[in-house]
Amino acid sequence: STQEKTPQICVVGSGPAGFYTAQHLLKQHPQAHVDIYEKQPVPFGLVRFGVAPDHPEVKNVINTFTQTAHSGRCAFWGNVEVGRDVTVPELREAYHAVVLSYGAEDHRALEIPGEELPGVCSARAFVGWYNGLPENQELEPDLSCDTAVILGQGNVALDVARILLTPPEHLERTDITKAALGVLRQSRVKTVWLVGRRGPLQVAFTIKVPRPRKRLTELLLRTATEKPGLEEAARQASASRAWGLRFFRSPQQVLPSPDGRRAAGVRLAVTRLEGVDEATRAVPTGDMEDLPCGLVLSSIGYKSRPVDPSVPFDSKLGVIPNVEGRVMDVPGLYCSGWVKRGPTGVIATTMTDSFLTGQMLLQDLKAGLLPSGPRPGYAAIQALLSSRGVRPVSFSEWEKLDAEEVARGQGTGKPREKLVDPQEMLRLLGH
Ligand code: FAD
Repeated sequence: STQEKTPQICVVGSGPAGFYTAQHLLKQHPQAHVDIYEKQPVPFGLVRFGVAPDHPEVKNVINTFTQTAHSGRCAFWGNVEVGRDVTVPELREAYHAVVLSYGAEDHRALEIPGEELPGVCSARAFVGWYNGLPENQELEPDLSCDTAVILGQGNVALDVARILLTPPEHLERTDITKAALGVLRQSRVKTVWLVGRRGPLQVAFTIKVPRPRKRLTELLLRTATEKPGLEEAARQASASRAWGLRFFRSPQQVLPSPDGRRAAGVRLAVTRLEGVDEATRAVPTGDMEDLPCGLVLSSIGYKSRPVDPSVPFDSKLGVIPNVEGRVMDVPGLYCSGWVKRGPTGVIATTMTDSFLTGQMLLQDLKAGLLPSGPRPGYAAIQALLSSRGVRPVSFSEWEKLDAEEVARGQGTGKPREKLVDPQEMLRLLGH
């Protein structure tokens, strides 16, 4: 049948999940055509807007994604927000199959009093700010205090702590934005606490193999429980910047300053662990502790949003309900990445999971479970978008923006100076 000859497939989102799903489909089906829709004018999702600027080697996956985008059977369409510019039913009508890979764009709220005070922000927004995510460029984090508290102890919390404490001159040759670097240069933050409800054994850093995990645990226990020797105490006192982990503490309230206008600390309930293994829970002991600080960053997780009323969504788990990537009760609709599994796991995890979704889709195609007959694909969507005044950004246009960013970085020895204003990007492209 036609669909088996030239299946038209689209992927929503151009992060690792979108690109790895596309890669698998193109490799395993010699005729498949894949269009990738992305709401930002630029590709790569959290590889561009999440991964820390001082971890450039992680961003090498962009080379693989670029190869995928260069395939004659793949197209990238940026500046198209699915759910706003085009609906999922419209995509399903135009394609044989649709894969939702739009990530987790929200943050989990603390849901404690005082969370709304100035001086409190999500780690997600802070990361977006220093990585040039357009919607976070107005954040203006106040780094005039000497202590910051990060609520959460996962990888994102560690990234944020590192960026706050790294001497700015060490970030000068990264792709951190010029504006963020300027603010970090003025920072007075000297101490960063990472607060977690549970203990060192439950910390969510991604060290899964037993040996390093054991070593990390030993190190944590030693630094957390041992009294420093004289020399170490002197070093710590003279060190300009320091960080520490506070275990078994659960945030109860953000404490206001005396005038009530901004955050001045966090009230923590002391917890202890109950239960064993998977059933371990942190329960309050009844003791409280106040930790003074001028900046509170909540880092207790990302969260997906529903994209379109026609797509089932589990708002409790924050994922699209699915079986191995097949969206429940909607034939021809698939999902991959963080929106499928929830917002945990590194790029490699996302790759494995996206290949699996691709495999399920191709199985269904082979079994004749997808619509038969030709589908118009991008031609139909392009007509809709143009009638709505939406002008997509192609991959070759992104490459022009890429070249511009690299050129702007050259003078200052940076790998690139990111463009942070979508209007400017579109202007540069003559849109
Ligand atoms: P995303 O990367 O978020 O991609 C989703 C894409 O969908 C985005 O481009 C988004 O703009 C787009 N989108 C959203 N809504 C729509 C819509 N309605 N229409 C069209 N497009 C839409 N992993 C590592 O291996 N190493 C690291 O060092 C590392 N650092 C990290 C640092 C941070 C701060 C975070 C948050 C994560 C980090 N990760 C790291 C994890 C890694 O980023 C994720 O595993 C991976 O990005 C998840 O891929 P995804 O494609 O599901 O989501």
